[in-house]
Amino acid sequence: MRGIATVPTYVVMQPTTLCNLDCSYCYLPMRREDRRMPVEVAEAVASAVRPWSAAGRFSVVWHGGEPLAAGREHFAALLRPFGPEVEHHVQTNATLIDEAWCDFFATHDIRVSVSVDGPVARNTDRVNLAGKPAYDRIRRGIDALRGHGLPFSALCVVGRPSPGLATELYAYFLELGCDVLGVNVEELEGVNTRDNRHSAAEVTAFWAELVGAWRRDPRIHLREVEWSLRYVGAVLDGTADDVLPRRLDPIPTVAHDGSVVLLSPELAGFSDPRYGDFTSGNVLTTPLAEILAGAVGTPWIREFLDGVDACRAQCPYFGFCGGAHAANRYFEHGRFDGTVTDHCRNSKIGLLEGVLDHARDHEPTAV
Ligand code: SF4
Repeated sequence: MRGIATVPTYVVMQPTTLCNLDCSYCYLPMRREDRRMPVEVAEAVASAVRPWSAAGRFSVVWHGGEPLAAGREHFAALLRPFGPEVEHHVQTNATLIDEAWCDFFATHDIRVSVSVDGPVARNTDRVNLAGKPAYDRIRRGIDALRGHGLPFSALCVVGRPSPGLATELYAYFLELGCDVLGVNVEELEGVNTRDNRHSAAEVTAFWAELVGAWRRDPRIHLREVEWSLRYVGAVLDGTADDVLPRRLDPIPTVAHDGSVVLLSPELAGFSDPRYGDFTSGNVLTTPLAEILAGAVGTPWIREFLDGVDACRAQCPYFGFCGGAHAANRYFEHGRFDGTVTDHCRNSKIGLLEGVLDHARDHEPTAV
């Protein structure tokens, strides 16, 4: 993997900066302000993605703030410029989902992913603007999806990996009925400055336990574990070099005002005396394809690519990880050309080691 692709596989869109929750680990800087994306921004993105979606599968991921806080009418206006070949996904805290939103998702063929951290006692970080627990509303929203027979994914943040947690979480998500599950160990990024350092043994044991729970009942696509197993399988059959794409996906995040941040949505809305506001252009003035073609001209991106080169040269996990995320480097190191972060330790190195530990503990005994 070298350099950045000029055609992305998906675009992240921010229909509003507003969120109706105030989760204690949230990284978003403007979540109390309702800055809505004008339709002109969606029109500019829709025209840019038309050739890409005609050539193959292409997704738009509506992310926030809380995207449903934009309201159905405005959301529908933002969807209208896109052709039917574009797949739409929404990442939501689920608290606003009701019958009308379920109809909306079905009508517009939107794939829903909900953020929930497990059973009620594991959701103490997910609170409303008054600091009150949000779990009941989250669960009501998910139950509305289930009532409508709408498939959904789930995204779970783990604050502190501890023995027994992975088994408890997996059982919860099996009961919840999601068909895809992503598990993120909490990250220090954006306005969330909480320490995310855990012992390597704790983190590795968490992932190993999660693999075990999944293997006993693999009804859910478990994103991180399935990806790791694909990599391990490729190493064993000598095709590991084909696992990562040839070039990094630029992952353009289009903010409410049309400004574009590449590689890490978490950098949107921040600025730094050295790097400026991290944007590479604005779709209202420059076509997205042109912004992507000039990506490596953005100084912080050049520095990040040096960091990826350093990872390639130094890190035995590079073939699996590909150099991880720009935002983790920036928020942990204050720059982009460092290598290992706590995010790597928790969610790349610990993950792969956990999968391997599980395999070692369950290898068939020789006869
Ligand atoms: S695990 Fe960390 S240090 Fe290793 S390649 Fe990934 S980002 Fe780089």
